[in-house]
Amino acid sequence: MKKYILLSVLSTLTILLSYSCNSTKDSSSYKSNSQKPTNIILMIGDGMSTPQVYAAMLTSENTTSFERFPITGLVKTYSKSHKITDSAAGGTAIATGHKTNNGMIGMNSDSIPVPSILETLSEKGMKTGVIATSYITHATPASFVAKNINRNNYEEIAMDFAKSDKVDLLIGGGKKHFTERKDGINLIKKMTSEGWNYYDTLINTDVNEDKIMILASDGHLPSYPSRGEFLPDATVLALENLSKSKSGFFLMVEGSQIDFAAHDSDSTYLVNEMHDFDNTINKVLDFAEKDGNTLVIVTADHETGGLTMIDPNGSYTETSFKFSTGSHSPLLVPIFAFGPGSENFSGIMDNTDIIKTILKTL
Ligand SMILES: [Zn+2]
Repeated sequence: MKKYILLSVLSTLTILLSYSCNSTKDSSSYKSNSQKPTNIILMIGDGMSTPQVYAAMLTSENTTSFERFPITGLVKTYSKSHKITDSAAGGTAIATGHKTNNGMIGMNSDSIPVPSILETLSEKGMKTGVIATSYITHATPASFVAKNINRNNYEEIAMDFAKSDKVDLLIGGGKKHFTERKDGINLIKKMTSEGWNYYDTLINTDVNEDKIMILASDGHLPSYPSRGEFLPDATVLALENLSKSKSGFFLMVEGSQIDFAAHDSDSTYLVNEMHDFDNTINKVLDFAEKDGNTLVIVTADHETGGLTMIDPNGSYTETSFKFSTGSHSPLLVPIFAFGPGSENFSGIMDNTDIIKTILKTL
């Protein structure tokens, strides 16, 4: 009997102890950050799951930006039509909170246009921007501004960008979709006549202007390092411009070519693109740390390449990385959060929960 009582006291103590340990862990970070964020920066590594993140860690001389985030979670990426999503349905789920069919941009699976978080926050008076190293009309950036049944209708998507009164800053490639069009319309001329300030390089851009479009390439930007520090520099430029807004801003930054590298099963290209994205995240975190009112979310639309690492026989290099597919995989992708409201992004969530959770923090 005594033994029984002792055992039951011990087990109660164990339960109490483990409960108090868990609750300490749960409330450990971001007590000080329970205020609402003023600015939202959403960064999407196209094709970036944990193997890509770990590839960056294994080949980086410094601690990566990913290790600066206090909150991490995992995200399910399947689309309405497929277990393995493409960037159109993945981007649309993140941008609008709706699962849709592969190939569709900014529409639900019934082909009904749905508002993106960029549009919703613009209506609240926030400044908005989109940056990519691909065509600006490519699936992920397009999901935040355009509505189209087919991601390949680039000229129609460019027209949506030109017509949007919700986006204030655009930086990327894909100039040809604005100027070499079947309808003969020069969208850059149309946009500049309607108040946009157009540049074809980051240099000489007046960051004080209101509406800025920088299309630095006819097609996609060159790969890293050929394009130089385009992505971190564009992001710093955008932050300088958008942070002048008194009512806050929303910025989406895409590391577009992580996906391209993995489709090519090119480890060196992949690692270079990851290091460029990592460097860009560091710039964003430096801004957010100083600002104190900025929520930073880093995630991905899907994994590309079915990347894995084999026994390196020494230290890990690009040659230790193996791709199991030339396409996408259904792997969970990570989500990293920093700043006010970041505590809401832990655990396993659906890609459609991301914007719902962002909107709840505001
Ligand atoms: Zn892809």
